[in-house]
Amino acid sequence: DMALYEAKSAGRGMASLYHPDMKRVLMEQRALELELRAALANGEFELHYQPLHQLSTDSIAGFEALLRWRHPERGTIAPGSFIGIAEQSGLIVQIGEWVLREAMAEAATWEGNLTVAVNVSAVQMRDGDLLRQVISALSATGLDPRRLELEITETVLMQDQEACLALLHRLRALGVRIALDDFGTGYSSLNYLRSFPFDKIKIDRCFIEDLCNGGESGAIVESVLDLAARLNMQTIAEGVEDEAQLHALRARGCEQVQGYWISKAMPADELPVVRTARAAVPVPALRQATGG
Ligand code: C2E
Ligand code: MG
Ligand code: MG
Ligand code: MG
Repeated sequence: DMALYEAKSAGRGMASLYHPDMKRVLMEQRALELELRAALANGEFELHYQPLHQLSTDSIAGFEALLRWRHPERGTIAPGSFIGIAEQSGLIVQIGEWVLREAMAEAATWEGNLTVAVNVSAVQMRDGDLLRQVISALSATGLDPRRLELEITETVLMQDQEACLALLHRLRALGVRIALDDFGTGYSSLNYLRSFPFDKIKIDRCFIEDLCNGGESGAIVESVLDLAARLNMQTIAEGVEDEAQLHALRARGCEQVQGYWISKAMPADELPVVRTARAAVPVPALRQATGG
């Protein structure tokens, strides 16, 4: 149906054309944006934590914080259904600040030097005041900066490279570690590995999926592991779903693995961690502080 919807743009008296579907999509996006804003204010966001498993010691090295929306009617919603809108609307900057605070407050209660990995969107790096957010969350939670790992994707690097590089250097100067997430997807460029100060490479799940099927993925994963070792970067493989994949990664010298075979992401109160007295960190107060 090619029917076009004609609308007068207010005030200018000029006609513009919309496809009805387009109009509906825009209205749904706007509605979702308002709902997300309310969700942030109402404390409907929650973090789940997935173990990062260290192969050399067969123990947990840390956890990745993954955002969930506990919708009052629709139940738990995964980030794939709302991160895009949060980014388009700019709301990801505020949501991202809440995530940082919440994840770091949680990690500050873990005994030992377990790390917490936090996903950071390209929009937060471009428009957000990420450096200030990190510094203020570090001081509010008392977390050792060396226990914080920020996960960024290659899309971040495709934008303003100079500004991005400067920001990453400032974050690293604080002691914060930087991981390159979903490596191998998108517009992977070896040039990024040369120019940017990554501490860790996360090999995307798509390469792990058919790692043991005798295809090209085996050679690619081996090369990435070799490259990372030569560049002094740590390695982790995402999406490990069976024992054969885990063995193949161990045999190839991958340092950490993450995936359903080890564990799904869990709510904070189900984590297999020993907690310190710092469990008294007032998370509800932090929630309030960022709720407005
Ligand atoms: P990601 O950072 O690459 O996170 C890994 C995703 O893979 C998670 O999905 C995780 O639950 C899923 N996963 C883990 N192990 C397995 C496995 O063995 N098999 C399969 N099939 N999947 C596995 P999730 O939680 O739905 O998150 C999706 C994406 O949303 C994340 O991908 C990340 O890009 C984004 N995201 C999540 N939390 C945040 C956040 O707080 N801020 C921002 N900006 N983005 C976030
Ligand atoms: Mg990630
Ligand atoms: Mg990933
Ligand atoms: Mg991914």
